Amino acid sequence: MTAVTAVTRVARSPVDVPRRPRAGRPPSPVTVEEIYRRLRDRLGPLEPPPRREPIEELILTVLSQNTSDVNRDRAFASMRERYPTWDSLAGANERELAAAIRPGGLSNTKAPRILGILGEIRRRDGGSLDLSWMRSAHSDRVRGYLLSLPGVGPKTAACVLGFSLGRPALPVDTHVFRVARRLGFFGDRTGAAAAHAVMEQAVPARIRVRMHVGLIRLGRQICRPGRPACEACPLQDLCPTAPAILASTGSR
Ligand code: SF4
Repeated sequence: MTAVTAVTRVARSPVDVPRRPRAGRPPSPVTVEEIYRRLRDRLGPLEPPPRREPIEELILTVLSQNTSDVNRDRAFASMRERYPTWDSLAGANERELAAAIRPGGLSNTKAPRILGILGEIRRRDGGSLDLSWMRSAHSDRVRGYLLSLPGVGPKTAACVLGFSLGRPALPVDTHVFRVARRLGFFGDRTGAAAAHAVMEQAVPARIRVRMHVGLIRLGRQICRPGRPACEACPLQDLCPTAPAILASTGSR
């Protein structure tokens, strides 16, 4: 075999080419990079939200559950106006807190959750609500601490790690979960908690947070619940779900 032939064969190796994964297989590392590149080019820049203190990001994420960013922010602003310090929030009356965060929805669920989280942090840390120690702590320790708080799951922990602390985390919210499943990262039997481990394994650390931002935008604008708009999607040729969707409407 000549040197030229050998080089040509290496260059055409299928693992080096972004391609639609076969059924039941996740995207290859090269395809993951291509998904990110196209999301950035179509929907970028994919900057994460501004950094907040860990305690602030934690409570904001609780407020973000099952609501829009606008209503989450309205609830957060109302809560901070009523309880300007974290200590005053931790000592809030549950019904009054629920009234303050009502713009964000599910206030009767979120109010006791917030109080439960703050109460547990205080109990563990001698009455302090200061989580700034997380800035210099290992990510595994931070994640373990957050997951051990009442009502805190992998998505909330990943938001604090990724957005507040700038660590390589990939929060899997409802949009990311739907889009990633359609792209073949995991199958129908994978739950939200397991999806975090799958995504963090599949997506390189340096692009994890921005991949989260890109997948959310794709999920809101194109890969929506119900019928996704595959005909307008920059990932169409990389997505194992697209052929059936396009065939069902004759758009292929
Ligand atoms: S091709 Fe369709 S199903 Fe796949 S990610 Fe894009 S919109 Fe979603």
